[in-house]
Amino acid sequence: MSDAYLDDVIRLMQLHGKKSLTPSELHDLSSAFSRGVDVRPELRDALPDGLERLASLPGLGPKKARTLVAAGIVTLEDLERALESGSLLHMRGFGEKSIQKLLRRVRFCRQHEGCIRFHTIEKEVEALIATMRMRYPLLRIEPVGGYARSLELLKGIDILVDGACEVPEASFPVRVIQAEEPWELCLWKHIGSDAHCLGEPDFSIPPELRETGEERAYVKEYGVGSLLQTLQGAFHMHTQASDGGATLEEMIQQAVSMGLQYIGISDHSPSAHYARGLSEARVMHQREEIAVMRERYAGKIHIFWGIESDIREDGSLDYSDAVLSLFDFVIASIHQRFDMDRDAMTARILRALEHPTTRFLGHPTGRLIMEREGYDFDWYKVFTTAKQHGVAIEMNCQANRLDVSWQQMRKIFPDTQPLVSVNPDAHSAEGLLAIRFGIRMARKALIPASNVINSWPYEQVARWLAR
Ligand SMILES: [Zn+2]
Ligand SMILES: [Zn+2]
Repeated sequence: MSDAYLDDVIRLMQLHGKKSLTPSELHDLSSAFSRGVDVRPELRDALPDGLERLASLPGLGPKKARTLVAAGIVTLEDLERALESGSLLHMRGFGEKSIQKLLRRVRFCRQHEGCIRFHTIEKEVEALIATMRMRYPLLRIEPVGGYARSLELLKGIDILVDGACEVPEASFPVRVIQAEEPWELCLWKHIGSDAHCLGEPDFSIPPELRETGEERAYVKEYGVGSLLQTLQGAFHMHTQASDGGATLEEMIQQAVSMGLQYIGISDHSPSAHYARGLSEARVMHQREEIAVMRERYAGKIHIFWGIESDIREDGSLDYSDAVLSLFDFVIASIHQRFDMDRDAMTARILRALEHPTTRFLGHPTGRLIMEREGYDFDWYKVFTTAKQHGVAIEMNCQANRLDVSWQQMRKIFPDTQPLVSVNPDAHSAEGLLAIRFGIRMARKALIPASNVINSWPYEQVARWLAR
């Protein structure tokens, strides 16, 4: 029985109003699991409508969500209305301040209602297109719209065809658009965003870039060839030592099989106790493990050893400077206290960037796609300070983060031009594959490959880390 399964079950039990599992219940659960019984569907089906969704809102939790559902508040729309009307003020646990906070979150989530994350349907879309092409070999069939541009959030899929056809059943909305002649021009019109298509057709601009219109000037000045195409290595990945699912060696093997030249292991620091952050003793243990792996994989891959260190509230990093300097690199990340005001948050991040061991700023805004807005800070100051200290701004490829987003990068990168790193933040061997998606995001962000440190060859990266 995995931790993730157990966490899921406990969460569902809490939604049913239960506080915790007794040892005998835990035993029953585990023996049922070993017989192949998954209790989650049954627990889920027995929940009142809307409860699970409400409880998943940050700041709500099972107890308050149950109170709301009992009061007839079931959908996000119900909740928004109730929060606006002030009718929740008399309920336990809802103060003026928490209501304002919750209202912002609900509005944020409602903006994304009906959205689908690209990566969750990519395989299904590919299969669907392949089936259609097989059934209608004489037709031209191409996905267009946001999907063709690798947009991270979609409302559905648009498919351009030049004849009558039927679409197979799909788990997402599909719209078929009948093409007009000439095909190439029609295809161009349906792939680009409205903003892109205001200009003249330029077929040399790759589909994933055709977003805000800024791509035209970029391509004219630097050429498409300046953009990221592949990565030589990957930083930011967790192992079983903290909250990863794979062993150190499994992560290394996966990276070798992907043909990477180098990787950077980075488990969590002690402040991230929920993620089993490494104590100093466990740091020393991992150091020995790394030495063994370096010997075992010599000539196959270079292994950098790092840590994802929490940025504490005052901007200091976890661990003493002596411990921090043992690592090849430090990723400084914020994992708690997201609600500081803009100036305090900016000062907190700047202090972390100025620490001599910091090489990366991890998931810089803290946003979670469709769930949480990023925290507020002075972007310009943070990016220029990162550049000044040679710290790479992370483009986190984890599908629920994509942080910094390509939209934000387009706005802030041209004026600040920091180094960037496209990091998988992998929590499993498979998680490393996320860099494939990250490459597309970096291209959409219009960042020249020369600024992306993990597109550099090993020697260059090693020099940058060791300075
Ligand atoms: Zn993190
Ligand atoms: Zn991480």
